[in-house]
Amino acid sequence: MCVLDIEKLRSDFPILGRKIKGRRLIYFDNAATSQRPIQVINAIRDFYENYNANVHRGIHVLSEEASEMYEEAHDVVAKFIGAKDREEIIFVRNTTEGLNLVAYSYGLRNIRKGDEIVITIMEHHSNMLPWVMLAEKTGARLRIIDINEENYMLNYDMLPHILSERTRIVAIGHASNVLGTINDLEYICRVAKEYDAVVVIDGAQSVPHIPVDVKRIGCDFMAFSGHKMLGPTGIGVLYVRRDILDLMDPFLRGGGMISSVELDVSGKYNIVWGEYPWRFEAGTPNIAGAVGLAEAIRYLEKIGMDFVEEIEHELVRYTIRRIREEVGSDVEIYGPEPRFRVGIVPFNIRGMDPHVVAIYLSEYGICVRSGFHCAQPLHVRLGLRRGTVRASYYFYNTKEEIDYFVHVLGKIIKTRKKTTS
Ligand code: PMP
Repeated sequence: MCVLDIEKLRSDFPILGRKIKGRRLIYFDNAATSQRPIQVINAIRDFYENYNANVHRGIHVLSEEASEMYEEAHDVVAKFIGAKDREEIIFVRNTTEGLNLVAYSYGLRNIRKGDEIVITIMEHHSNMLPWVMLAEKTGARLRIIDINEENYMLNYDMLPHILSERTRIVAIGHASNVLGTINDLEYICRVAKEYDAVVVIDGAQSVPHIPVDVKRIGCDFMAFSGHKMLGPTGIGVLYVRRDILDLMDPFLRGGGMISSVELDVSGKYNIVWGEYPWRFEAGTPNIAGAVGLAEAIRYLEKIGMDFVEEIEHELVRYTIRRIREEVGSDVEIYGPEPRFRVGIVPFNIRGMDPHVVAIYLSEYGICVRSGFHCAQPLHVRLGLRRGTVRASYYFYNTKEEIDYFVHVLGKIIKTRKKTTS
């Protein structure tokens, strides 16, 4: 695809035309949340204008139509990630809720004292704290896979030493939200399966950026968020392999998730849970969110996830080269080789607090993240005690934006040198 096509794609995103402090917005905070194309905004609007009703199959036409759209959204997601069918797709609020759902519904039922839960030092807090909770509540032991400081990849050599017959859960991020590192899940799943452990994937930073096929990977669970992949906030996905669904207790209980409830005044009751995935979607769901997410996926499918991945690799390569050319000795860049990461470039200007750098960049209309990015243990492990500045891309970012960003980094460095000399 050529530059012209990117410009055409950019015109689908109204916010990218915005000015910040009189300057063109440069949005490099896509790992936090992406922007939405007009197609997604319109789909949500169209739902509320023409189809809004509660789901779960009310008898009237509007409810039938809304239910159909909501159910179909599950099919769109299932196809996108290579799941078997809609039964394996549970809509949640976000990745965080999806991972907590696994810890509560699967974990509390199946994990015992003496079992082991394996995570990595690279995890986002959302794929760390639910497992800390589970370990605390059950008496299971948490084991941690380390990172290689030289290449910012996981230390795969540790796997055979950490995993054992005691391992019941391996919970791992597909791509790091700090370093961008794409982890070798197929290998990890293979090793985990030798011990019959279930594998839970945090797909928050992979599903929006690279082709993902849950069956090829061989995982049991995968959670991700709609808002990081052009969809609305408040809608996320938990994929659960069909066989595993039978081993889980419902997470939330209430309307929409049962097949029948019998309860009499003596207090006797008999409850029959509903079918999958509805058993795990109690209460009125985010219907418009699901419709918006389905439209976001259609948009991504039109572009092609291979293309999204390729363009992000190129943007990372270009950023590293331009930073080295223009401000090389003053900037430390972290992360693996570009081909092993999604579109994320974490860095620091030597001697400057990451938050101060982000504030400067914001003055020029450039949006980046600074600090620990909800991955404090990883930063501490790498000796980055004040965190990092993180530029994170999506397919609509351009080399021109990166040129300007590097130019502004140069200005910041010059200003700092002036004020400290
Ligand atoms: N995991 C990773 C790797 C993330 O990057 C994020 C979002 N920063 C999350 C989990 C949590 O996502 P959400 O806030 O949408 O639940």
